[in-house]
Amino acid sequence: MSKKKKKKRKRLRAERDRDEGSYICDACGEEIVVPIDLSAGESQQYVEDCPVCCRPNVIYVEIDEGGEARVWAEAE
Ligand SMILES: [Zn+2]
Repeated sequence: MSKKKKKKRKRLRAERDRDEGSYICDACGEEIVVPIDLSAGESQQYVEDCPVCCRPNVIYVEIDEGGEARVWAEAE
């Protein structure tokens, strides 16, 4: 008889996920994770092609006072 040990790895939740945000593509509805450049300013706006459906979205990024990034997208 052999005992199988199943070890569950705890996922460490690092603070680093502040540097990432996600938006829902307006065209295909997929959730797209994007890196956030916190040093680029509290309010950012840029156009990015969706990696899933290749349609352009206007990405809005807002960094609030606590350093949390809010990301959303609108169709161009
Ligand atoms: Zn898309």
